[in-house]
Amino acid sequence: MNNLEKNVSDLRGKKILVTGAGGFIGGHLVRYLLELGCNVKAADIKPVQNWYQSFPIENHILDLKIIDNCTQITKGSEIVINLAADMGGMGFIENNKAMCMLSVLINTHLLQASHKNNVLKYFFASSACVYSQVKQQTEINHGLKESDAYPADPEDGYGWEKLFSERMCNHFYEDFGLQTRIARFHNVYGPYGTYTGGREKAPAAICRKIIEAKMNNTHEIEIWGDGNQTRSFTFVDDAVTGVEKLVNSDVILPTNVGSSDLFSINQLVDIVEELAGIKVKRRYNLSAPKGVRGRNSDNSFILENLGWQPTVPLYAGLEATYKWIYQEMKNA
Ligand code: NAD
Repeated sequence: MNNLEKNVSDLRGKKILVTGAGGFIGGHLVRYLLELGCNVKAADIKPVQNWYQSFPIENHILDLKIIDNCTQITKGSEIVINLAADMGGMGFIENNKAMCMLSVLINTHLLQASHKNNVLKYFFASSACVYSQVKQQTEINHGLKESDAYPADPEDGYGWEKLFSERMCNHFYEDFGLQTRIARFHNVYGPYGTYTGGREKAPAAICRKIIEAKMNNTHEIEIWGDGNQTRSFTFVDDAVTGVEKLVNSDVILPTNVGSSDLFSINQLVDIVEELAGIKVKRRYNLSAPKGVRGRNSDNSFILENLGWQPTVPLYAGLEATYKWIYQEMKNA
């Protein structure tokens, strides 16, 4: 058994608290941890009937901005995986900066509570939005290394909150010995996530728009920006594997968990058109929120430290995502 295989089995039987468990990544992670044989407790602010996925375990509904709730819920947990945050795609984070920054209360109070309750490991879900905006001004982006977060110039609001919270994690490790682990997720997509309502991200939004265009027989969609802006997209199964591998590792520094395959939004639309079996007229809205011009993940650090990087090709991930959204919209 090599080190990684040994580490993977290390989570089995562990008492793990997942916060933000009613959300997109949280639902997939809880499912995976239960299949692995972990003793999982789930928490979210939303009523359970609104969770994307829920399981017959201890499911707690509470506001984790409140420290007393954090102190109560972390008691008895060996590992805390914090995915709770007020977040969404560009449309949401550009227009709700204060709300995004208030998530700092969740991470701060969960760190304090974890330290107080002798939690062994604490995971924080950070984001590629921490990266300096000056390094993302062109469509061709060969990948952002972890060090590219400094000198700091992150996405205003959401990105600053993530960067500050990363540092808080690092200092809880340095000053109190709390074993913190930090993933910088890059555009995670997949089934059982937000595809409408204003918080959806590009892959789910494009799937929804093309399905609408097909169902309504309009064959036309709006695209935010000129469609030439680029991103890398990470399938949710890879995000979950990344969390598991990081939690099992001894890597304290923030680590990219993202695909390093770069696509433009127009290329994303090409794939979804193929999946839908239609061609659409593209109406470009140049005044809509569009974020940085080009963003990609440099995976040298994760490869060196975990011997792994995301593997699911965009076409395969979008196929699963498209099918799920299509079924949801058909049922609705
Ligand atoms: P999500 O919005 O689907 O899930 C977040 C969950 O946190 C929601 O269910 C929400 O109800 C819950 N929450 C919000 N405020 C809370 C509070 N005060 N108390 C308790 N629960 C609260 O988002 P997601 O896509 O699953 O993302 C999970 C984490 O990963 C977040 O921290 C997010 O910032 C980070 N992240 C996600 C992506 C992505 O592409 N999805 C990219 C980068 C970082």
